[in-house]
Amino acid sequence: MSIFFAGRVITQLDDATLQDPILLTKMFIDNEFVESETNEWIDLPNPATNEIITRVPKCTQAEMQRAVESCERAFEQWSTTTVLTRQQHMFKLQQLLRENMKKIAANITEEQGKTLVDAEGDVLRGLQVVEHCCSITSLQLGETLPGVAKDMDIVSYRLPLGVTAGITPFNFPAMIPLWMFPMALVTGNTMLLKPSERDPGATMMIMDLVREAGFPAGTVNVIHGAHDAVNFVCDNPLIRAISFVGSDQAGTYIYNRGSKNGKRVQSNMGAKNHGVIMPDANKEATLNALAGAAFGAAGQRCMALTTVVWVGESKEWIPELIERAKKLKVNVGTDPKADLGPLISPQAKERVEKLIESGQKDGCKVLLDGRGVKVEGYEKGNFVGPTVLHGVQPNMECYKEEIFGPVLCSMEADTLDDAINLINGNPYGNGTAIFTTNGATAHKYTQKIDVGQVGINVPIPVPLPMFSFTGSRGSFRGDTHFYGKQGIQFYTQVKTVTQLWRGEDVSHSTASTAMPV
Ligand code: NAD
Repeated sequence: MSIFFAGRVITQLDDATLQDPILLTKMFIDNEFVESETNEWIDLPNPATNEIITRVPKCTQAEMQRAVESCERAFEQWSTTTVLTRQQHMFKLQQLLRENMKKIAANITEEQGKTLVDAEGDVLRGLQVVEHCCSITSLQLGETLPGVAKDMDIVSYRLPLGVTAGITPFNFPAMIPLWMFPMALVTGNTMLLKPSERDPGATMMIMDLVREAGFPAGTVNVIHGAHDAVNFVCDNPLIRAISFVGSDQAGTYIYNRGSKNGKRVQSNMGAKNHGVIMPDANKEATLNALAGAAFGAAGQRCMALTTVVWVGESKEWIPELIERAKKLKVNVGTDPKADLGPLISPQAKERVEKLIESGQKDGCKVLLDGRGVKVEGYEKGNFVGPTVLHGVQPNMECYKEEIFGPVLCSMEADTLDDAINLINGNPYGNGTAIFTTNGATAHKYTQKIDVGQVGINVPIPVPLPMFSFTGSRGSFRGDTHFYGKQGIQFYTQVKTVTQLWRGEDVSHSTASTAMPV
């Protein structure tokens, strides 16, 4: 049963293997859902069944050009709209998102696979960015300094850049587009969005709400595709800035290509997040937090806690962690009792299983093996159950790679310093957490750890939007982060005005060639 909404059109294709009509995903240009004229389509299967639920176009160059030109036209009007009008649009979008949260979540479960409750969290974390944008009247304030010289003041304004672009990954189909276009629009920019070709449905449903909220045509347009669409965004001269979230490979490529073309680029990439368990931690709370953060969303979160470092005696808790992990229910995301759903694709499943195998070959103990898990009624789904590899070493493939599945790498350290050295030696810097009841230990960890987002007894420390998402080192390229103050900075440029308003008669002044001081 597929979900019908404005972003898809029912089309019967000449494909004997498909019994039902297939819904083609549309583009969104000038506030209209438009069918692509391309000949190239990407099949989008439901990860729990592998039945095709929609086909996503690889938009043609002409379609993408039309979309970016629409953004350029809309910018002229939108950038001069009052800040209060932009704020009112955000209030409306906020209300509509809240009202439609469950519908969007259902689409996410259908296209991406995560459980319904987790999918609602996906929408909610994006909605919080929209709520933050509603404070734009304070967020976009510039600076002033009166009296820098006699009768002279300096004023700086934060002004929009122009047309911006967003390229998003599959794992948060609502949250990540919502990290991008609301911040871009509320600061007066327009945006060309290219959602993940693997689950663009949530973006399309949100576009329906954008239109309903009264955003003028062209303020945000959506194109679809893979590499060609990405290259279009990186090369198009109308686009001033690119926000990217996704894998290292794509992120590095987009950062390099976009920057080379003179664009501002922010690029959030992969991760290997470590949880450090001190022996003085609250055992029950820590093991529950760890099980949830390692295996939730089937490990397909950039902030999943994928590596545990047991310091000293805390390793004695491993059997209890395994017991908790065993209790997690693997099932289709629509089952209210499911704790984790399927992986995004058969290829992702195969890759995760190969990484488990490589860990085993490298000498890890597979304390819990999620390979071969069977889900009744969903035998063709991409399911992998919670898996724990113990005895992982830094030189192993399973440690060096971001697994992006429900696989916990388990390591031991004698001391806190050893744990810190291990983590600081890993190239990624997205997130980490320490579990302890000792404030001094937590303080030391916070000071010494070279990771951009730290949780103290908080397993997934994703900052709320009044702060910014500050992944560091190998997890980020660029210098200004997503949402919060840094998001405002990313989408604005500063114009500084030095003004002299002298009341007395200045007509008798003389020319001076010296540098004004
Ligand atoms: P992905 O890189 O495969 O896809 C992201 C986007 O890039 C898509 O729109 C896709 O069309 C495009 N793309 C894919 N391959 C490309 C290539 N070779 N060249 C140019 N463009 C390409 O990422 P994904 O698999 O959809 O998402 C999972 C990854 O995203 C993980 O590595 C995860 O850690 C990361 N992620 C990071 C954050 C963060 O904030 N750091 C958040 C979510 C996801």
